[in-house]
Amino acid sequence: MKIDFTGKRILVTGAGKGIGHDIVRHLTQECNADVIALSRTAEDLASLEAEYGCETIAVDLADVDATRSAIECAGRIDLLVNNAGIAILESFMDTTVEAFDKTMAVNVRSVLIVSQIVAKGMIERGQGGAIVNVSSQSSMRALHDHTTYCASKGALDQLTRVMALELGPHQIRVNSVNPTVVMTPMGKRAWADPAKGDPMKARIPLGRFADPHHVSQVIAYLLSDQSDMVNGILMPIDGGFLTT
Ligand code: NAP
Repeated sequence: MKIDFTGKRILVTGAGKGIGHDIVRHLTQECNADVIALSRTAEDLASLEAEYGCETIAVDLADVDATRSAIECAGRIDLLVNNAGIAILESFMDTTVEAFDKTMAVNVRSVLIVSQIVAKGMIERGQGGAIVNVSSQSSMRALHDHTTYCASKGALDQLTRVMALELGPHQIRVNSVNPTVVMTPMGKRAWADPAKGDPMKARIPLGRFADPHHVSQVIAYLLSDQSDMVNGILMPIDGGFLTT
């Protein structure tokens, strides 16, 4: 199933590390896309530019004004991947207002802000488009020490559905991917300790965590015309975790 995005400009947020880095690799190397990589750390963006020749945007997505002006200056965007996210690990009783607000700002509010600007351009051009939001299995299951993260991904799933509902008439499809654990910097912080990681792996029927490329491949499919009638779905990439 060859997907070709030649001539398409795709914005990928949270591109500096982990899953986002692999999404950029996949879209540029396997699908010939022109990628605009957005992230926070300048060195990560410099290496992405050197490795994959992509345009870059350095901005903190928690900063509403800076984000708006950065996206408004980004030029035409045909396809969008809202991948950036953070996880602040705290038990429910220890969850702070600061962690809650910061997590919601990045994992939910920034998706709203970026997508509004990108969708406005898509609507004005009248050629449709596709958006993929990177959610998580944790939107649908409770996980210890993931209070704000689970809440943010649950909110993101509903944001995806409403975006699909209201942008659909403009032929802009909006879907999410909901991966299980991936051993990125974020994944390692939560699950590298075998005392936590092994019981989690045992709940996955395939008995293994996902690799970044498993996520990138599904995202490419959901961005492409091969999923032309797929709109508003939350696609697990979880080895069956959500069946249990
Ligand atoms: P990661 O390893 O922590 O990488 C996240 C990337 O996003 C980094 O490049 C980070 O930049 C960037 N980022 C974070 N906050 C940002 C902000 N405010 N503004 C701009 N860029 C920001 O995370 P990951 O594991 O690749 O996760 C990517 C997505 O997949 C997230 O939405 C996450 O919730 C989701 N996910 C992850 C897993 C998992 O197990 N890893 C499972 C399911 C879903 P800096 O490093 O410079 O801050």
